[in-house]
Amino acid sequence: MNRVYNFSAGPSMLPEDVLKQAAAEMLDCNGTGQSVMEMSHRSKAFEPIIAKTEATLRELMGIPSNYKVLFLQGGASLQFSMVPLNLKRIGKAAYIDTGVWSGKAIKEAKRFLSVDTIASSKDKNFTYVPRVDAIKGDYDYAHVTSNNTIFGTKYAKFPETGDIPLVCDASSNILSEPMDVSKFGIIYAGAQKNLAPAGVTVVIIREDLIRGPEHAAGDLPADVPTMLRYDTHANEGSMFNTPPCYSVYVMGLVLEYLKKNGGLPAITAKNREKAKILYDYLDASAFFRPTAEKESRSLMNVPFLTVIEDKEKAEAMNKKFVAEAAKAGLVNLAGHRLVGGMRASIYNYMPTEGVRALVEFMKRFEKENA
Ligand SMILES: *Cc1c(COP(=O)(O)O)cnc(C)c1O
Repeated sequence: MNRVYNFSAGPSMLPEDVLKQAAAEMLDCNGTGQSVMEMSHRSKAFEPIIAKTEATLRELMGIPSNYKVLFLQGGASLQFSMVPLNLKRIGKAAYIDTGVWSGKAIKEAKRFLSVDTIASSKDKNFTYVPRVDAIKGDYDYAHVTSNNTIFGTKYAKFPETGDIPLVCDASSNILSEPMDVSKFGIIYAGAQKNLAPAGVTVVIIREDLIRGPEHAAGDLPADVPTMLRYDTHANEGSMFNTPPCYSVYVMGLVLEYLKKNGGLPAITAKNREKAKILYDYLDASAFFRPTAEKESRSLMNVPFLTVIEDKEKAEAMNKKFVAEAAKAGLVNLAGHRLVGGMRASIYNYMPTEGVRALVEFMKRFEKENA
């Protein structure tokens, strides 16, 4: 068997131990005589699986008890509409525009309320995260994208928002570094980058932001669809309808694996080490250069270009790089068309050896092609 190092922006690599465990439990999970894929989500067999996944996530992230954890579907993309639908009161929200995903969140929010884009890094093709110390004003909430998957940037520090709930799309860096959950009203993340296979979206929401007939915050307008209301899912423990059972199960295995291997402190150190190996090489290279500004560099997504100025020649070189890398077992390194060049996504479960192998390959490539 030849496993490759997958540098895709998502879905991404999972720990090999987790894949082996899932394989071993494929036909019979916990002596139930069935696969998790076959279990009723309301059965005694599945209950402890979803409960443990939630408990481990709470423990690893230090989620305070006044927050609910929801396992939803529709990806982070559906949260672009659920957030404004559920938080809209006065009808105005503040967004910071740091790239494509922020842009999509803004576009969707504009269907429901008026958006103030209070800062943007569009002027430099999103190569940095604008510094915003504080957000003030009459806003239902403020929205940030903690890590910008396409442009390879992240916040060094989040803005202070006082009483304005801060909402964060953390799809591409959740659980990669410490995050003070209590600073946020909502954190949401599609699971397929750092947590699990695709199909499940984690929403961490402060209880006082959940609206419904049984909630202190009061009810929502009647035209918010049942499936798009946070209270629907919070009241039913993510079991209003069938949750993505298998993805929740694998997330549980991933989180358990992380816990056994030193939890957040260990993965933080590992992620910083991996990123350093790659950025150190890129900074020293006369052939490649990283695109993101230093203070805003992502630990998860590293876009880089060759220094070749002629567009056609650069394109040909990129193609050659991506093809030769794939032959060497380093796959999915093509850059996003909005940045060009290459992008190495090095999420939580990309082994350090994978990053070392990439740098070794790049050194060879540089020597042969510079
Ligand atoms: C991947 C990604 C998304 C989209 O997630 P889906 O689960 O595919 O909807 C949204 N935001 C960010 C920051 C992402 O990286």
